[in-house]
Amino acid sequence: MNHSQERKFFVVLCILLSVVVIICNLNIKANASNSKISIVLDPGHGGYQPGAVKTYNNIKYSESYMTLVIANAAKEELEKTGAFEVHMTRTKDTYLSIPSRTSLAKDVKAQALISFHINSAGSSATGSEVEIPNKNYRPQLNTEGIALGKSILSELNKLGLKNRGTFTRNSESNNRYPDGSLSDYYGIIRQSKEYNILGIIIEHAFISNKSDVNNYLSSDEKLKALGVADAKAIMKHYNVNSTSISQNQQLNQDNKASNVVQDIELDSDDPNAYSVILGHEMRNNSNINNAMYPIVGTSQANKEQLISYYKSKAVFPDFYSAHDTEVKSLDDFVRIYCQEAEAENIRVEVAFAQMIHETNWLKYGGRVKIDQYNFAGLGATDGTKDSGSFASVRLGIRAQIQHLKAYADKNAKENNLANPLIDNRFKYVKKGSAEYVEWLGQKENPNGLGWATQTGYGNIIRSTINKILQM
Ligand SMILES: [Zn+2]
Repeated sequence: MNHSQERKFFVVLCILLSVVVIICNLNIKANASNSKISIVLDPGHGGYQPGAVKTYNNIKYSESYMTLVIANAAKEELEKTGAFEVHMTRTKDTYLSIPSRTSLAKDVKAQALISFHINSAGSSATGSEVEIPNKNYRPQLNTEGIALGKSILSELNKLGLKNRGTFTRNSESNNRYPDGSLSDYYGIIRQSKEYNILGIIIEHAFISNKSDVNNYLSSDEKLKALGVADAKAIMKHYNVNSTSISQNQQLNQDNKASNVVQDIELDSDDPNAYSVILGHEMRNNSNINNAMYPIVGTSQANKEQLISYYKSKAVFPDFYSAHDTEVKSLDDFVRIYCQEAEAENIRVEVAFAQMIHETNWLKYGGRVKIDQYNFAGLGATDGTKDSGSFASVRLGIRAQIQHLKAYADKNAKENNLANPLIDNRFKYVKKGSAEYVEWLGQKENPNGLGWATQTGYGNIIRSTINKILQM
């Protein structure tokens, strides 16, 4: 090469290098904007399900409010880093079903769904715990759950909260994953795992413990500190540097000195693990609230939940497929329930739970017989068979739904039903006299009206609904 060739070569080289550098830069920028870590934060409960509720000194504390404050604080803290794309399942005091929470996580391709809760048990139980996926089906989610759970518990512990450890809980109704292994107990964890997403539940502190409430739950400031701690743990877990130093750090250090840490790490395979932890066994109570359950409205349970709940306790009778061409299986039976309930804007889980109670899981055995297609003892008190018999499964379900509508909807009229009237006792019901499931029992109904005279009739149905919603 002579000098001019060298110069040309050098210039071309420089141009090429610049192009490479520019392309690389563009790529890095593109990656940076695309590589945010997608996280779903799920404030537990909401709407007519306040979660655990407790009153101290005339101040009412409710879990659904507190979880929202905590999650909002965590969101703010995570977003400051610029590294996370944070999605909230709810931003207001509204009810959301478990499937709608987990499907959001699927839709936004979340790395994790983190559900925020407050625990409740006897008055002495105190501290934080994290529920994580079991080792079945996708064991890496258990491993990651342990790591994230420990990170969160360690940050909460810096605030002074006792570290109760991470826990797994297996299905108690023999629910299975696609590979046949026993599924996780909590729907939020199980459904996340089915989407291959890490789902965990943080139980921050106990609403049932006065000192937990005083130290961590009794003001928005204190609740926000919990959310900031959660966020720090999440950042550490995903190797993201915190850009802001929390003002609570000093406070946390002070609290830490006066607390003894008890790290209880229980192996999920030990069947006795739960009974040894005070309060844990009773944790479910925190999900049962005192708010009454409206009968009218969008169903909170889906078809799959109804099917798996029924299957967990009973076998669908062959009678129906032999006698009703529309019903070849439990699947068809449940589908008809969903369709008929939706047509009248009645919550299907109410009708389905009532059917379970009234027919003893379609085993009958009382006055009503299986060939009457009478799923809720309609007219059974007459003692005459005709008044409580229907021509098909669908018409029997329709009559039940219409009768429920009569009780629950004060505007229900024969001429505004979705389908022609089947329920011949519709006219006897004082419309809107039992808006809530709990009021279906005449003894609990404030006006002494209602579907049945059995003591606690509505409460029995309500407790079945709670079980369905946990599927
Ligand atoms: Zn809860």
